[in-house]
Amino acid sequence: MPGGVRVTAELMVGTDLAAEMVANAATRAEKLRESTGVQPCLATVLVGDGPASATYVRMKQNRSKKAGIGSRSVVLPSATTTAELVATLTELSNDSAVHGILLQHPVPGHIDERAAFEAIDPAKDVDGVTMHAFAAMAFGEPGFRSCTPGGIMRLLEAYDVPISGAHAVVIGRSPILGKPAGMLLLASDATVTYTHSRTVGLPEIVRTADIVVAAVGKANFVRGDWLKPGAVVIDAGYNEGNVGDVHFGEAAAVARLITPVPGGVGPMTIALLLEQTVDAAEAQSETAVQSVAGLA
Ligand code: NAP
Repeated sequence: MPGGVRVTAELMVGTDLAAEMVANAATRAEKLRESTGVQPCLATVLVGDGPASATYVRMKQNRSKKAGIGSRSVVLPSATTTAELVATLTELSNDSAVHGILLQHPVPGHIDERAAFEAIDPAKDVDGVTMHAFAAMAFGEPGFRSCTPGGIMRLLEAYDVPISGAHAVVIGRSPILGKPAGMLLLASDATVTYTHSRTVGLPEIVRTADIVVAAVGKANFVRGDWLKPGAVVIDAGYNEGNVGDVHFGEAAAVARLITPVPGGVGPMTIALLLEQTVDAAEAQSETAVQSVAGLA
């Protein structure tokens, strides 16, 4: 957090809540291993050598290990074609030792990312990136959540933020963050406004928000004078130098609640990924037992 900042907002800290979620996931992973011999396994797929993506993947693997979740790492060159990536993801989808699959976003521009995401078996889509997962989020049905939006919802719940009837403005509409975040808020009865790079009059729109979700990828993009006093500000951004998409110093003097960067949304994302990997492993071993018993 920047020094010398006048913080009047309460911080929405994700670290403790995330640690609790990871501890629960670890206990469940251990129970599954003891009762069935199955260790939950998360396969991570990284295309190219972007340093930020490589760091995210490494962090996810390290946390998996600490939670007793195995990891399988697949690193593909930047020149990988859509067909090659789809083939890798299909192979992992068919591998019974792998319970969850994470394709690190973004992939290089020449790859059809949607086609790649759709090659992930929905039963293993623990990062919530397939159309199947999106539809479940949009219809308010159970299923895997996109991890950052799902983590944001857990944080809002933990801090008792009223969502029903609130006006939520989501800045950004990426398939892994902005779009599903808006859908989850809508499913919780918020009135949702999506904004993006073509939006006209963004500050005026943000000023009408009770809840702001910033998912832009631009450091210090949302300014304090864009905010309604008392707003709840969720900064999902993560830019070089541990800087979010919201100007923390300005926003913290206006908002009621605000997530710090780091330590806000980031840890929740990884915690949900691990929780959903254990969910997937439990569901798949249940299906395997039923299939042996001739019930599936
Ligand atoms: P992305 O795929 O690049 O999407 C960025 C979105 O921001 C796009 O929808 C884009 O609009 C919109 N945008 C760009 N310029 C804008 C502007 N001037 N005004 C309004 N909207 C604008 O990024 P992403 O993957 O969603 O990530 C967003 C941020 O979240 C990044 O900082 C990333 O590092 C961070 N992130 C954090 C986590 C975590 O665990 N905390 C996880 C994932 C991502 P168009 O659609 O019109 O182009």
